Amino acid sequence: MEHTVTVRELAKRYGAKEVIGGLDLELGPGVTGLLGPNGAGKTTLLRCLATALTPDSGRIDVLGLDPADPAQRTRLRRLIGYLPQNPGLYPHFTAAAMVDYIAILKEITDRRARKSEVRRVLAEVDLEDSARTKVRKLSGGMRQRLGIAQALIGDPGFLIMDEPTVGLDPEQRMRFRTLTSRLGEDRTVLLSTHQTEDIAALCDRVIVFSKGAVLFDGTPPELADGAKGRVWSSDVRPDQGRIFWRTADGRYRVVGERPPGGKPADPTVEDGYLRLLGPDAKAAA
Ligand code: ADP
Repeated sequence: MEHTVTVRELAKRYGAKEVIGGLDLELGPGVTGLLGPNGAGKTTLLRCLATALTPDSGRIDVLGLDPADPAQRTRLRRLIGYLPQNPGLYPHFTAAAMVDYIAILKEITDRRARKSEVRRVLAEVDLEDSARTKVRKLSGGMRQRLGIAQALIGDPGFLIMDEPTVGLDPEQRMRFRTLTSRLGEDRTVLLSTHQTEDIAALCDRVIVFSKGAVLFDGTPPELADGAKGRVWSSDVRPDQGRIFWRTADGRYRVVGERPPGGKPADPTVEDGYLRLLGPDAKAAA
């Protein structure tokens, strides 16, 4: 596979706290999901890749450009789309003016081309009817979609999205998946999420990130497979010490040791993730 993004020995610390220590990573075209607990360093990694944060050491190559070099960094910023965790949208701008402003920052100087690009990205996220609405009057989900729209400006070759599905309702999430999987057909998309359903439905590849290091790197079915033989369905409430929850059919789903009366169940991506990070993983280590 051809690599569009290469990271070598990346390190980043805040004060004395090392968040990422010596990370190696390659990305190629397709949709890669970054999954991990809060504080794992996902946002820090995404910000380094988006050239919003300078790493302490290591090398990054994105689309053949080196963000450590000022001239290449400027070129690179035109080729990257970035949805930050809290996109700094200006409340008094209209939706269209907000996206137009980002297009200006990306140096789309031709007015007509810019106008048509603004219209295109707003339509991609179903916001064309709200183009003249002020940002402060948009709902949380609409603001999130506006954040996605600005990331799509200029048809970026590398799209970085930090928790893009936060605040989206199920229908919008479905639309987001359709849009993102289409984008991933011929470019590199990296997104972070807490939604294992997004990973299962959308991502070609999943990276589980914990304490600034890669804990798992493979396909979503491979992540699910890690919990094979460790997922059970039981009529009786298991004792403590296992991960379990009651499902809609009134049975208990258990990840870990077989509970009394437990029947094997098909593992999901969420089970695989819990298996990697939950108490079961700690017990096995
Ligand atoms: P994630 O996105 O996986 O939740 P982050 O990259 O946001 O993780 O944060 C990783 C760790 O770095 C956390 O412990 C967080 O508190 C710390 N951190 C993040 N940003 C800063 C900052 N600007 N200053 C100090 N510590 C930070």
